[in-house]
Amino acid sequence: MFESEVAAQEPTLAERVKELEKKYVLQNYARLPLVLERGRGCYVYDTAGRRYLDLISGIGVNALGYAHPRITRVIREQAGRLVHTSNLYYHEYQGRLAERLAKISGLERTFFCNSGTEAVEGALKMIRSHGRRMSAEKYEVVALDNSFHGRTLGAISITGQPKYRADFEPLLPGAKFVPANDMMALEQAVNEKTAGIVIEWIQGEGGIHPMTAEYARKARELATRHDALLVFDETQCGVGRPGTYFAYQLADPVVLPDVMVAAKPLACGIPLGMIVANERAAAAIRPGMHGSTYGGGPLACRVALEFLDILEEMLPSIRSKGAYFRMRLQEMAKHFPFIGEVRGEGLMVGMELSVPCKQIVTDAMEAGLLINCTHDVVLRFLPPYIISEKQIDQAVGTLKKVLKKVKPAG
Ligand SMILES: *Cc1c(COP(=O)(O)O)cnc(C)c1O
Repeated sequence: MFESEVAAQEPTLAERVKELEKKYVLQNYARLPLVLERGRGCYVYDTAGRRYLDLISGIGVNALGYAHPRITRVIREQAGRLVHTSNLYYHEYQGRLAERLAKISGLERTFFCNSGTEAVEGALKMIRSHGRRMSAEKYEVVALDNSFHGRTLGAISITGQPKYRADFEPLLPGAKFVPANDMMALEQAVNEKTAGIVIEWIQGEGGIHPMTAEYARKARELATRHDALLVFDETQCGVGRPGTYFAYQLADPVVLPDVMVAAKPLACGIPLGMIVANERAAAAIRPGMHGSTYGGGPLACRVALEFLDILEEMLPSIRSKGAYFRMRLQEMAKHFPFIGEVRGEGLMVGMELSVPCKQIVTDAMEAGLLINCTHDVVLRFLPPYIISEKQIDQAVGTLKKVLKKVKPAG
């Protein structure tokens, strides 16, 4: 009796982890009370050994799930050979990866960095330098309401959501915001002072809102007419998730940007971001004007090459599994009056509710399903590309049970 009481007072590993963080880690995140230990395929396990089906995959990063055998092998092998070189020297994988990206993107040159926001910063420097070559007045950037481009100062300057910006004003001058998919507003905002137009083809953090092809074509036309750079931020919607390599390839015919930035899934969890540009945009950055100590290291680049090899054969299945998932969610939606639109492309899916979704996310976690809530009322799903239809069924089944507990607004 006495012994078990003592044992009960002993904090668990999870409790110790949370306690340490509370005391020593900057309190900028509102984490869910879940301490993860390992993962395999589409499942992760917590420190108590409980299993969770993961439909958010590290915010769209773990594209091949956890411990994918080919990714694990390449990381092991490269870790024993060469992890980092800096960009003072060459290594064999950066040029090969850039060549591969040129082939699949239709653009020409790549700069490698470590994150989405760092890629956006580089693209902003490209925009500024491109504009300045023509006129000191040409520095405006037209961006969209409800967009998200990262957390650094440049990136929040063009992020169209006051909650990310308010505490850090004043920000970069020259940012102009227009509503998405409004061609008139875009036409009115872009002029000879515009150096760049920045668009997320599918707004991710903003609640899974896709652009129309006509809108993207309009942006292309305006950028060309005013000699501004058209930049697509594919950090969340790119690199396979929509069922094409990049979301702009969903349009027929393809609407090519001058610059594309991407990151999240690019190296399956090893930090890697990129700016891929055509020659016109790339010419804005000359030797010495930009750089990154870690960017494009041998480990990250080799993993990305392996990932792209695997992805090539997967693209059609991402489209079909995405369609299946949305169909299952739409079917389920009929039974719940508080579910609105289900939208997305490929395995980037959002489900809009008329009730807050925070509690649903917590309840789903307790039921063994990891999902995410964005914009307070949109359930966001970014499952690993390797998810099976059976696992989709399992996820929908769990979600249904969780949603039964929701009390409609009132
Ligand atoms: C996540 C995200 C970013 C920022 O990426 P980080 O790697 O977190 O810096 C930028 N743009 C979009 C569209 C994103 O989804």
